[in-house]
Amino acid sequence: RLHNIVQDLKGKIRVFVRVRPLSSGEEAAGCQHALRYGGEGSVLAMPEGRLAMKTWDFDGVLGVADGQVDVFREVQGLVVSAVDGHNVCLFAYGQTGSGKTHTMFGDVEGPEAGISPRAAGEIFRVLERNTEGGAMDSWSLSVTMLEIYNDQIYCLMGEGGKKVSLKFGGKEGVEIVGAESQDEVVSEAELLAVLSRGSERRRTSSTAMNADSSRSHMVVQVKIRSLSLTGKETTGKVTIVDLAGSERLSKLGKVGDEQLRETRSINKSLSSLGDVIAALKKKSSHIPYRNHPLTALLSDSLGGSSKSLLFVCCSPADYNRSESVSSLDFGFRCR
Ligand code: ADP
Ligand code: MG
Repeated sequence: RLHNIVQDLKGKIRVFVRVRPLSSGEEAAGCQHALRYGGEGSVLAMPEGRLAMKTWDFDGVLGVADGQVDVFREVQGLVVSAVDGHNVCLFAYGQTGSGKTHTMFGDVEGPEAGISPRAAGEIFRVLERNTEGGAMDSWSLSVTMLEIYNDQIYCLMGEGGKKVSLKFGGKEGVEIVGAESQDEVVSEAELLAVLSRGSERRRTSSTAMNADSSRSHMVVQVKIRSLSLTGKETTGKVTIVDLAGSERLSKLGKVGDEQLRETRSINKSLSSLGDVIAALKKKSSHIPYRNHPLTALLSDSLGGSSKSLLFVCCSPADYNRSESVSSLDFGFRCR
């Protein structure tokens, strides 16, 4: 069954909505749930006024009763397919505070562990099963973590903060120049440690730039190479993208030149992502990957034979209504 889902997904983007619970602060402030779902499978609705209802249809809606396990169930097959040589791209989109980082990373272990730590465990389980079962001779795994802030890509490995550039036209389409990676990662624990260090560096580097880490995109790439008993080499990649907050300027209150520049850059990157996905859907002959470093960086993992899944993260609170509508509209356009 997993195999069928994976075949179906080639070149398409599946879009799931994840609605986080009201926070205790929101509950204390008397916020109401502004979203309706759970009736007709994958339909999500928001009351507009007294009689009207705005509705969207997605591949799935994960509600407040769904935990991290339920989220991972939707991506497990894709993660396994990366070991088989596919490029897989997982995104989280939504306003700051909507649950993107919780969904993509969460705790390193335990019930609140998010997609990345669970994917790390799954990848090593599959690799070990394949080598023990004789389906694979050997494998190697490498990981790199990048951050995109104000149209510039930085490396989150090593000391962090190093600028990274992209080179086009090579064998792999786009080449990342100047990024460090951790090669020969041999265990789940080692991969988890790398992920934790990178996430921590995203926080410290943004503090150094006097910015909020939720105003940058974080991109994790796990590359898996394996050799079959007959000597055939297979390469697959899992890319996990925790996008910058999609909120508009007005939400931020006081606005200086720096925030203006930051917000323009985020808007441009997110609309470039939407444009690329729209062009892929229309099967356009020109896919505008190069309009932003974010889409350029992901050009080998978006479209073609790669498989993508987008989580639109949503706050259920009524005061976030307009941000939720714009996030859901974005997600709906991507299907
Ligand atoms: P974002 O990365 O989109 O800015 P976070 O992932 O940091 O948002 O989430 C904001 C807060 O809400 C965090 O304290 C997080 O733990 C909590 N949270 C987010 N999603 C959920 C969820 N599905 N269940 C419980 N708590 C959540
Ligand atoms: Mg975040």
